[in-house]
Amino acid sequence: MKAKKPLPVIEQIPESPVRESFDAPEPPGERTILRVEGMDCASCAATVEKSVARIPGVSGVKVNFAAGRLDARHESSVSRERVEAAVEGAGYKVAKTEGMEATPFWKTTRAIVLFISGALFLAGLAFGLAGASQALTVAFYLSAIAIGGARIFRSALAGLGARRLDMNVLMSIAAVGGAAIGEWAEAASIVVLFAAGNALQIYAIDRTRNAVFALAKLAPDEVAVDRGGAEVMVPSSEVGVGEVVVVRPGERVALDGEVVEGSSALDESPITGESVPAEKAPGDEVFSGSLNGRGAILVRVSSEAKDSTLQKIVGMVEDAQSKKAPSEQFVDRFSRIYTPAVVALAAALAVVPPLLGGDFSEWAYRSLALLIIACPCALVISTPVTVVSGIGAASRFGALIKSGSALEAAGKLEAIAFDKTGTLTEGRPDLSSVFAPDGEEHALALAAALEKYSEHPLAHAILSAADGLELPKVENFQTIPGRGTEGNVRGKHHLVGSPRLFEERGIPLDGDAGEALAAVEEAGETPVILGEESGRVVAVLGLADAVRPEARESIEMLREAGVKEFVMLTGDSEAPARRISEKLGISYEAGLLPEQKVEAVRRLVEKHGQVGMVGDGVNDAPALAASSVGFAMGAAGTDVALETADIALTTDDLPKLARAVALSRRAERVIKQNVAVSLAIKGVFVLLAPFGLVALWLAVLADMGTSIAVTLNGLRLFRK
Ligand code: ADP
Ligand code: MG
Repeated sequence: MKAKKPLPVIEQIPESPVRESFDAPEPPGERTILRVEGMDCASCAATVEKSVARIPGVSGVKVNFAAGRLDARHESSVSRERVEAAVEGAGYKVAKTEGMEATPFWKTTRAIVLFISGALFLAGLAFGLAGASQALTVAFYLSAIAIGGARIFRSALAGLGARRLDMNVLMSIAAVGGAAIGEWAEAASIVVLFAAGNALQIYAIDRTRNAVFALAKLAPDEVAVDRGGAEVMVPSSEVGVGEVVVVRPGERVALDGEVVEGSSALDESPITGESVPAEKAPGDEVFSGSLNGRGAILVRVSSEAKDSTLQKIVGMVEDAQSKKAPSEQFVDRFSRIYTPAVVALAAALAVVPPLLGGDFSEWAYRSLALLIIACPCALVISTPVTVVSGIGAASRFGALIKSGSALEAAGKLEAIAFDKTGTLTEGRPDLSSVFAPDGEEHALALAAALEKYSEHPLAHAILSAADGLELPKVENFQTIPGRGTEGNVRGKHHLVGSPRLFEERGIPLDGDAGEALAAVEEAGETPVILGEESGRVVAVLGLADAVRPEARESIEMLREAGVKEFVMLTGDSEAPARRISEKLGISYEAGLLPEQKVEAVRRLVEKHGQVGMVGDGVNDAPALAASSVGFAMGAAGTDVALETADIALTTDDLPKLARAVALSRRAERVIKQNVAVSLAIKGVFVLLAPFGLVALWLAVLADMGTSIAVTLNGLRLFRK
């Protein structure tokens, strides 16, 4: 993990270019987030949404079916209880304990009810076949409908109340209508199949819904705090920043902080996805949720429980899962036309042919079949299930995909631009050559003093090379982004940075200094020049930064995933840039200023459409923002990076990038398959139903079958 230094001067990052934001700006006001239980269809989510939206003072509500989550923005006059009441009024439960439902599926009321109504239905069928009286079989069917359908009818009423033709409404009309025209067996089969389909779907989805949330539970609720020499057990939420907590062997870390005493190996997989334990010693950062190995450590808390990296990650993933992906928006628009159109067709079938002399119950039957088909059930869940599953799966290996849009966009990447330092290279350059006529130590101390507050990897390298030297005092310190830093030392204005910086300031790099620079570049090292504003060059330093060993293989993986072009964008000089890109077999642009990196990304976007940019998220924020999908590496513990990226990788790990892109590709494919299959099946049934070729039970079976098929197809991403 990178060491972070306090920055007295904010690096002047050029203003972020305008880009079409993936999501509309958040409406202001307070926010309530609830976990809604028992939502078994996407259209039910919309019903809940409408019920909550009708509360005066609520300005925006999003309910995500696949994530089982409600996110409402409202004025402070609206209480959480009011929102909960609206959800319950719509027929759904609000999860009180914020954990998983512990009851196994077959013990839930839903499953028991389903089982009883299914048995009654089968009994009806059996007695019918055995030639029992109609009264008896009807009694069985009727009780199957009443028991199995109670939940459906109740939700249907809520749907009607919210003036929505959701799938509960459509199925209820079909079941009641079927019974009304004497098709008892069919009516009962609609109810049983629909309930069974929903139950199966909930069962399939629940584990995925809870997987991310379960992460948050990893941080212990109580922690041993060292207060005045004595250890006291305190709820984690009451521990303040700066307090020291004790983490015993085998315990999970409760709060983010820095090790102050002891050492141990920690399993940080909840944060990084990495199960190989990381060695921690005093000075190292630890994250809440990590599992301590065999050592005991004392940790100085660096953030409150609610602000921990783990909480942020969970919040982000859940937020991401609740946002609508572009394909989902397409489906929504489609359904808004499709459902009313098919319902209108169904109404016409029930009325017109009988007026022209057709048989009423025959046409009523066809009309009911159309009503069932009018439900866009499978289509509506085809995308969100995949998005939730894909984002959930990525979070397990430490890739935080911030929205369904980012997931879909990453699945379409044509080209990827990389920052060099710290992305393709280790980002830990070593000082490998020094040219300093006035003495090496003097030059190093001076350079280090000027680099003390810079975040740049080169600065860190120079500082560690000057370890132990006494650094002179610097006044009027400034960083010059993409170039270096400057400041006054002993009354003289000094500069440290790239050859370009000196060129721009009109300081000639000739004579011995020029030769030293040529030698550094010849060796493929990054040159850093130290000089006085007046024109005197004090030193020429050569720094070498090793290419990450896994870089080449990761680029191969990305190529296999379908990305066609790779470009390294760097502010470094031509020679080291060429050397590195040749090693990796990619193209490069060298000597770029931060704004030129932005330009380069824009050009790539123009050429390729979908372009990813990979950087550290701090220095590269503008270029990340100019790309279609910005990836930040090593984001854990760096809030800016976590926030600026569209996809944040918790560790500095290029193979993770390749995995995230490959997963997005798969998600993109699964979404396409799901949408296509749901559309095709709907299409076929809509065409056949008016000719009396679709039995009611078959319409429900096809619909529930498709819903379950697309759900399982989406969940494949997660299970893998
Ligand atoms: P990159 O990440 O591609 O190396 P940057 O924009 O971060 O590009 O930096 C560009 C160049 O500017 C570096 O290669 C280096 O020569 C110079 N530079 C930037 N900041 C510093 C600094 N703090 N100290 C020395 N050189 C710097
Ligand atoms: Mg950089």
